[in-house]
Amino acid sequence: MALLQISEPGQSTAPHEHRLAAGIDLGTTNSLIASVRSGIAETLPDDSGRHLLPSVVRYGKDKNPVVGHAALAVQTTEPLNTISSVKRLMGRGKEDVLTLHDTMPYRFVDTEGGMPSIQTDSGVYSPVEISAEILRTLRNRAEESLGGDLTGVVITVPAYFDEAQRQATKDAASLAGLKVLRLLNEPTAAAVAYGLDQKPEGVFAIYDLGGGTFDISILHLKKGVFEVLATAGDSALGGDDFDHAIADWLIEQSGIDASGNHSILRQALLVARKAKEQLSNETTVTVELSDGKNQHWQGALDRDTLTSLIDPIVVRTLPACRRCLRDAGLKVDHIDGVVLVGGSTRSPQVRDKVTGFFGKPALLHIDPERVVAIGAALQADILVGNKPEEDMLLLDVTPLSLGIEVMGGMVEKIIPRNSPIPIAKAQEFTTYQDGQTAMVIHVLQGEREMVQDCRSLARFNLRGIPPMVAGAARIRVTYQVDADGLLSVSAREETRNVESFIEVKPSYGLTDAEVEAMLRSSFEHAEDDMQERKLREKQVEAESLLQAVAVALKADGERFLNDEERSAIDKCMNKLAQSKTGRDAVLIDQNAKALNRATYEFASRRMDNNVQQALKGHSVNEFEETSGK
Ligand code: ADP
Ligand code: MG
Repeated sequence: MALLQISEPGQSTAPHEHRLAAGIDLGTTNSLIASVRSGIAETLPDDSGRHLLPSVVRYGKDKNPVVGHAALAVQTTEPLNTISSVKRLMGRGKEDVLTLHDTMPYRFVDTEGGMPSIQTDSGVYSPVEISAEILRTLRNRAEESLGGDLTGVVITVPAYFDEAQRQATKDAASLAGLKVLRLLNEPTAAAVAYGLDQKPEGVFAIYDLGGGTFDISILHLKKGVFEVLATAGDSALGGDDFDHAIADWLIEQSGIDASGNHSILRQALLVARKAKEQLSNETTVTVELSDGKNQHWQGALDRDTLTSLIDPIVVRTLPACRRCLRDAGLKVDHIDGVVLVGGSTRSPQVRDKVTGFFGKPALLHIDPERVVAIGAALQADILVGNKPEEDMLLLDVTPLSLGIEVMGGMVEKIIPRNSPIPIAKAQEFTTYQDGQTAMVIHVLQGEREMVQDCRSLARFNLRGIPPMVAGAARIRVTYQVDADGLLSVSAREETRNVESFIEVKPSYGLTDAEVEAMLRSSFEHAEDDMQERKLREKQVEAESLLQAVAVALKADGERFLNDEERSAIDKCMNKLAQSKTGRDAVLIDQNAKALNRATYEFASRRMDNNVQQALKGHSVNEFEETSGK
């Protein structure tokens, strides 16, 4: 309890005043806004009674952005001005966007250091601005239907979102004039909607299959506190893939030549989506396709055919479920319940697969498309201070390990992946060279052992370290991840109390696909990495031994060594220096041991001399340097 407090917004000055708060599910395909009214959390509809707002924005020549269904309707006629799935671009850089270009054929414009923007007929817009447009629409909807200004909102993000993606989401909210009480992970929001936090104890899997993304999370509940144990997923898997599989089938059945004909393809996708959604409740539907000229086809699609078309896609969610269980250190029987989230979990085929995998029926009585927004609304209501007696603590986890670069290009992990947040962890480091007065703090994210295999998040310098013998300074580096998943890093030299600090807001972040790829490669390379790490450790040890011996030789070589001894040491040093550049860790180790043996006598002579000097009232501070150890 003492660890985590969700703070200041809850301090209502007037306890009986009801503040307006809302939860927002800012989705890739659809977005929703929900609020607690008369004690019940519900999503708010637009004027036409529609709850889902398609996450689509159209920027035409008239300079008046259009959001939602109206934008969706002109998507095929104005593909370059009508932006969908902007969530995929949030907090991402140029390289990330290049890989998305096939699915997002917009006119991207490079911007200085930030996210690439999109050129439209009414100007250039960044992903943050486009998302802000969606948020503004939802805000207006809520303020109209609730009859007042929103005090604050909770916005949900995928558990996989990294710092940059979370920051971009917050930026979009401020642009839309919204005060973000907190960003909340989507699976956590779904769990809140089901009131799982009210249970005494349990382990739950949240299976979220949306339009273009799949996320699986495992939550552990204990004494009203719940914690995300692990998350996994696939950022390129969702209902859209079902649509494509069905569309291909439709085109094949129709015999219409669709090669290079984009309009047939788009038509087939729309027909496919509609048929798929209907088949969640019906057993067969009529489907039609026409090339607009002389070819017209009509046929039937039944549930069995649909099942055979989408089954290969649905089963692709299962490896991530297995991985997530493994990360959480659990077996499938440990799961007490499964929650379904996302429009695609309406499909009976998906439900069957999930039930089969977890061996129990899933919780689904709350609309899977609305459940996230509802959970966010419940949380917002508490945070805004409408329910001060509530004591809901939500824990999330870090998706990837956060570490620091140490000598030899290695990464020392400070906060391991899947650590519950907020979290702060400190570790002490020291200097590598005598008299070193500055230190580079290089912050990295990833599971691999070597710097080049992890992602660089930030780099800063700690200056003003008092000059000391290598290894004597005490540098305390603290990593802190706040409840929104944002990282700050500070470094302090303990003897002088010099401090340096950085808030990590990288110009672009990682996609969940990259997170996945990084995790996968860390498993695949675990063995190589261990070898590589061992080698680098030996190389670093060798280098510092060589340096220490050189310093000692320079200081006392002539006094304490005869020619023969000196040349034996030189020989060992040469051998070690040579092997150090190679890749044979065993050889480096042998040569280092040989050098240690060769300098043993020399080191003891120096030590004896130092002791004698000390007895005469001189300082002993040179001990450590004669590292015969
Ligand atoms: P996102 O989280 O990506 O914004 P949603 O949770 O809104 O996505 O899910 C959108 C997906 O759900 C689309 O692929 C849509 O076709 C699918 N979907 C919606 N209703 C149904 C249904 N009745 N049966 C099957 N799929 C559905
Ligand atoms: Mg969603």
